[in-house]
Amino acid sequence: MDLESHAEDLASDLGVDNEEVLEDLRNLVEYSVPIDEAKGSLRRKYGDGSAGGGGPTATDVGSITTDVSAVTVTGRVLTAGERSIRYQGSDHVIVEGRLADGTGVIDYTAWEDFGLSPGDTITAGNAGVREWNGQPELNLGESTSVAFEDDPLEVPYEVGGEADLADLATGDRAVTVEVSVVECERRTIDGRDGETEILSGVFGDESGRLPFTNWDPDPAIEEGSSVRIENAYVREFRGVPEVNVSEYSTVTLMDREVDVGSDAPTMSVREAVDSGGVYDVALVGNLLAVRDGSGLIQRCPECNRVVQRGQCRSHGDVEGVDDLRTKAIVDDGTGTVTAILGHDLTAEIYGGDIEDAREEAREAMDQEVVADRIAERIVGREYRVRGHLSVDEYGANLDVSEFSGSDDDPEARATAYLEGIEA
Ligand SMILES: [Zn+2]
Repeated sequence: MDLESHAEDLASDLGVDNEEVLEDLRNLVEYSVPIDEAKGSLRRKYGDGSAGGGGPTATDVGSITTDVSAVTVTGRVLTAGERSIRYQGSDHVIVEGRLADGTGVIDYTAWEDFGLSPGDTITAGNAGVREWNGQPELNLGESTSVAFEDDPLEVPYEVGGEADLADLATGDRAVTVEVSVVECERRTIDGRDGETEILSGVFGDESGRLPFTNWDPDPAIEEGSSVRIENAYVREFRGVPEVNVSEYSTVTLMDREVDVGSDAPTMSVREAVDSGGVYDVALVGNLLAVRDGSGLIQRCPECNRVVQRGQCRSHGDVEGVDDLRTKAIVDDGTGTVTAILGHDLTAEIYGGDIEDAREEAREAMDQEVVADRIAERIVGREYRVRGHLSVDEYGANLDVSEFSGSDDDPEARATAYLEGIEA
């Protein structure tokens, strides 16, 4: 059988244009692809799920849902990052990234070494579909065939994982960032293979700041250095996204300095809470109330938890250590957060230190007077609060680093107001 006859058969089988199939077939055979494999690949390309071994139907990326267990899909590899995971007791190197076509983008995990690189256009036959964080995701495994296409698929997405810190979200993989190391400390932790040294701290760029962990300490990562990091991933740690730099990441010292913005982005409360946690954010809203557990409080000397009536939840009967704290409800019309102010900011609002608070409490024979005084000063006014926002099932807490009357910063107030309207 000659090429023309093969093409004719295939074209009538698939119900597509004869000339197109012939040209594709010629290309494949020119690249020494055996005729049967070439025909199989074209069946997948033109979406015949019934023939060629009953593989799943060819699908656009944008149409993949978790209603099907497997698909055949052609797409451009945007990112491909190696990572080591422990699976059923042994270490396994996987490749994670994103695949796109003209209709959308999907995350994938490759369990086999298919040799994927950013920019490749592939057809993945019989790729598994699983649900991850409510979204479909592709699993390229043993039963998946990966064919590399010669013509790059044009996609409306950038190839490569370049990102600003402000755009990173939990779950992102194979990202590339250019950052300045704002804070960095070496720590010893109990890892899965015993004690191990890691680096942790804070990265910054023009867009914002995020905490990081470097699991395999890289000498280029030290306070004050500017580095380019390829193939990092983002996971949640204590309610905010954290950049993870692994042994598979590439860290390069840069010869330019990355500027770190001094201000945090201003967001509406709803926007900030919906994002699931923000490392450094400014909110502007009305201070509705001061909550219980504010003012003069006592902490456990062992674990620093707040003790009530001399009882620590972990350590029982303890001699509490006095401290000052404010837990305030801030509302901007789109939502509420509990702003938590530590000793220094609370002392500033209260207008006195712990000794003053003790004395006032002794005179009144009630330590609640300290919280009452704080409430008198701040409830009913509008403030700009900046800090780490974490969100859990009990609500949203802002660990406050800056607290100021919103009139102090009319620009921030206007921005927040406009963003509130847009939201
Ligand atoms: Zn305790």
